[in-house]
Amino acid sequence: MSQQIQFLLRAEEMPTHWYNLNADFPEPMPPPLHPGTKQPVTLGDMTAIFPENLVRQEMSPERHIEIPQAVADVYALYRPTPLLRAVRLEQALQTPAHIYYKYEGVSPAGSHKPNTAIPQAYYNKVAGTKRLATETGAGQWGSSLAMACSVFGLECNIYMVKVSFHQKPYRKLLMQTYGATVHASPSTETEFGRKVLAADPDSHGSLGIAISEAIEDTVKHPGTKYSLGSVLNHVCLHQSIIGEETIRQMAMAGEEPDVIFACAGGGSNFAGLAFPFVRQKIAGKTKCRIVGVEPASCPSLTKGELRYDFGDTAETTPLMMMYTLGHQFMPPSIHAGGLRYHGMAPMVSHCKKLGLIEALAVPQMKVFKAAVTFARSEGLVPAPESSHAIAAVIDEAIKCREENRKRVLVFNLSGNGLLDLAAFDSYLTGKMHETGNDD
Ligand SMILES: *Cc1c(COP(=O)(O)O)cnc(C)c1O
Repeated sequence: MSQQIQFLLRAEEMPTHWYNLNADFPEPMPPPLHPGTKQPVTLGDMTAIFPENLVRQEMSPERHIEIPQAVADVYALYRPTPLLRAVRLEQALQTPAHIYYKYEGVSPAGSHKPNTAIPQAYYNKVAGTKRLATETGAGQWGSSLAMACSVFGLECNIYMVKVSFHQKPYRKLLMQTYGATVHASPSTETEFGRKVLAADPDSHGSLGIAISEAIEDTVKHPGTKYSLGSVLNHVCLHQSIIGEETIRQMAMAGEEPDVIFACAGGGSNFAGLAFPFVRQKIAGKTKCRIVGVEPASCPSLTKGELRYDFGDTAETTPLMMMYTLGHQFMPPSIHAGGLRYHGMAPMVSHCKKLGLIEALAVPQMKVFKAAVTFARSEGLVPAPESSHAIAAVIDEAIKCREENRKRVLVFNLSGNGLLDLAAFDSYLTGKMHETGNDD
């Protein structure tokens, strides 16, 4: 009998609730602090830029939060997503390990990010917001939010890091196709953008600068709220649907994971897959290892310091307790644009501090070698970000072969790489370096 490859949930088996790890931490998380008073931020501080319903989720101690029907209806465009067994990759590596991947690249925007973009647009719509402002690096978040805004009838104003705006025109076009307005950041739209441009007219921009612009845009335009695609608690909450589905699908496969991997930029796809398993770990129901994989050139979890830091360059966000390289850190321009962030989600950071998860860092060339191996065995071109997890899985599978030991490995394939083919060109033609710009 041939090996079963796809493990599919029926529509009616889609989880009805998100999972909030905050309810189960053995020790509470340090609260975010107001940058002026250094006191814990209040609901009132946060509602200056977020709608109250999302702020309540951000601060919620509730274990399970029901997914509203209107959100479930939009999730149904691509959820439940498939879990696949990578038999051809196993064969290529000649490993006794069983490798499974949860594939989030089937969403309309091609990544896991719509899992939070859709509820964020919905909660804003319900709260009376007319327009959302946000930032985007390589464009995965911007295109996800643009899609969600078009579904719920909101305007969407996006500050896109200038270097990506010019180098990656396709995601910009995707955002414009969904009806969003896209500015190259630093822009002349905001005071902060004009200040950066005055000091350096050729500035390529950064995520930190773009966040500062989007927040300024929000406070200056009535009816506008701000939206963030990673890092925050409510984003980790929305992404938990990934792990909730995976638990059900692993039961269908009749196996339990020994090691779980996901790439970690701001931490949201990692949290999404991992947190439902962290819950099982806290409850003593599994001993599986859970590993976040980050780029060697932007290693917040493995090399950063655990301390209070700002989320943006202009120091406008609350101070968050997180593993950070410092909010002034300028990551080198590696191709995995979604992993170029100086900090790590406070919830993921707290897991690391409590020893519930591990982290490792991998260099860019090794990531692309793994991506190509995966594409040539499984047929699917993975996003450069997701390929960090693949590189770690391949190492573990080779270790299994050397030790002649079966282990069950599960990873999050957070997105497809079809709009990142220029990065593969750079790798395949030998123009890529470990860090910095291509030849
Ligand atoms: C944005 C992105 C990431 C990184 O963000 P996280 O918040 O760490 O998940 C990873 N993979 C893909 C495909 C992305 O688009």
